[in-house]
Amino acid sequence: MLMLIKNGRIVTATDDYTADIFIEGEKIKAIGKDLPVETGHAQSLQVIDATDKLVFPGGIDPHVHLDMPFMGTFSSDNYETGTRAALFGGTTMVIDFILQKQGNSLRAALEEWKGRSDTNCVGDYSFHMAVTDFNEHTKKEVKGMIEKEGISSFKTFMAYKGALMIDDRQMIGLMEEVKKHGGLINVHATNGDLIDYLVAKHRDEGKLSPLYHYLSQPEVTEAEASERFVDMANYTGCPGYIVHLTCEGALNAVRNATRRNQKVFVETCIQYLLLDASLYEKDFDGAKWVMSPPLRQKKDQETLWAGINQGLVQVVATDHCPFKWEQKLMGKDDFSKVPNGHPAIEHRMELLYSEGVNKGKITLNKYVEVACTNPAKIFGMFPRKGTIATGSDADIVIFDPNEKHTISASSHHMNVDYSGYEGWELTGKVKTVLLRGQVAIDDNKCLVEKGYGQFIKRSKVVQVI
Ligand SMILES: [Zn+2]
Repeated sequence: MLMLIKNGRIVTATDDYTADIFIEGEKIKAIGKDLPVETGHAQSLQVIDATDKLVFPGGIDPHVHLDMPFMGTFSSDNYETGTRAALFGGTTMVIDFILQKQGNSLRAALEEWKGRSDTNCVGDYSFHMAVTDFNEHTKKEVKGMIEKEGISSFKTFMAYKGALMIDDRQMIGLMEEVKKHGGLINVHATNGDLIDYLVAKHRDEGKLSPLYHYLSQPEVTEAEASERFVDMANYTGCPGYIVHLTCEGALNAVRNATRRNQKVFVETCIQYLLLDASLYEKDFDGAKWVMSPPLRQKKDQETLWAGINQGLVQVVATDHCPFKWEQKLMGKDDFSKVPNGHPAIEHRMELLYSEGVNKGKITLNKYVEVACTNPAKIFGMFPRKGTIATGSDADIVIFDPNEKHTISASSHHMNVDYSGYEGWELTGKVKTVLLRGQVAIDDNKCLVEKGYGQFIKRSKVVQVI
């Protein structure tokens, strides 16, 4: 299979130029102006005219939860619907989370997650391994996860005591082991005990609406845990990655790490850049945005945009974890029973373009860097993924920067019956998406089947940022 993408404006994290891209099989074979096409190839050559279009690397969303058991139910997008919706929005690869069950092995969790994901993905995927029970047995499994399974990042929770949380002693032990074998620790950095205290207090006082979900996780719960994590990572020398960072206090903790030249990377999510806590004042409708950490204040949005431009925030992900409205209703009478999560896997790239690039908050190069390139670099997939270069996978998004469209649950492809962005008019639309040389999306249709998506083994984490 040969393909030529002609005359597009190619944007990577560092470059911006107009050229043709020649693709053979799954890989980019050549890039150049007016590429000559050998006559022997002409008949089987598929040509895509990208004049006046932007051409990006495929987006990578390193924080999604598909078909995930949580709070007595499952997130409503499975591996098929979730990765397909991602493709519609220009995200060609996602990294999902395996959750170890406390008392069980990492291996058992890996097998369980493979059972749900294998042969079901439309787009490419990988996993982070969440270590919820670090002990002598788990310790022995770390090396094999990195070297045999290609799972080089380990998620930890400083909250959700009794289900997911590990204590600081376990965290330090895990950091030492992961560092030894060339991996990285992801962290959900919030102070679980303080949150549990506030949840119980609000419930005792009969304060049960979604607003109290927000008020049970004030900024200090995130700032304190982020600083503690950063200090533990500094002590052990283990590379760290703070997921879904939302606020000024937490980012200030990372500034200290940066001064120490520490390898701590920061991810924020699109919702924390665009939405704020006033949405929790809409009675139970606020349950649409019940997620942890919660949405913050406008001042935090400004801090996060600045953090991106200052290089303190390296990645914009989604924490996509959708629940249908009937699932959200489980918490109708008690905010602490609302399943946590919000749908965004499909719209991350378009939202970030429209509200970030189009409104002058970030440059085109920065856009590609935080949505495509840095996730590939941090998580050991660069330069196979995350850029447009000779030899890279032909994961490519052809994007119309001027087309306007409106987000609605009635037209999105995620398996959820509402949108957190209903009625938002965006500028810029994904037109064509290639995944490993195949046209996956064209003209709003998906042209690849479930099973096309591959599990991508990742290298030891390469610190090249
Ligand atoms: Zn998450």
